[in-house]
Amino acid sequence: MKKPNSIPKMYCNLFGHDYQVTKRVTYHVKEYTCKHCKTELTTNSNGSLTELTPKFKEINAILERIHNARTQRLKNKNLSSSIN
Ligand SMILES: [Zn+2]
Repeated sequence: MKKPNSIPKMYCNLFGHDYQVTKRVTYHVKEYTCKHCKTELTTNSNGSLTELTPKFKEINAILERIHNARTQRLKNKNLSSSIN
C-alpha cells in the first residue's frame, strides 16, 4: 500500500519537526532538514532559524566559501609555525 504524502506533515503538526543538521556552513550557521517532512531550515544573521530559501542557499554558499578559506589559511599558518 502506498503511503499518502500528507502523513509526515501531519506527524510534524502533531509532534513538531525533528530537525537534523545536514550541513555546517560556519561555526554559527548550519542547515537543517526535518527527518519526517524534509522541511529545510537555516540559521539567519540574527541567529534564529528560518526557512532555507534559494536566497539563503546562495548566502550560505558564499559564507561557506569564506569560512573554508579562513580555516584553510589558519591551518596553513599553524602548520608553518609548528615547523619553525
Ligand atoms: Zn517536519
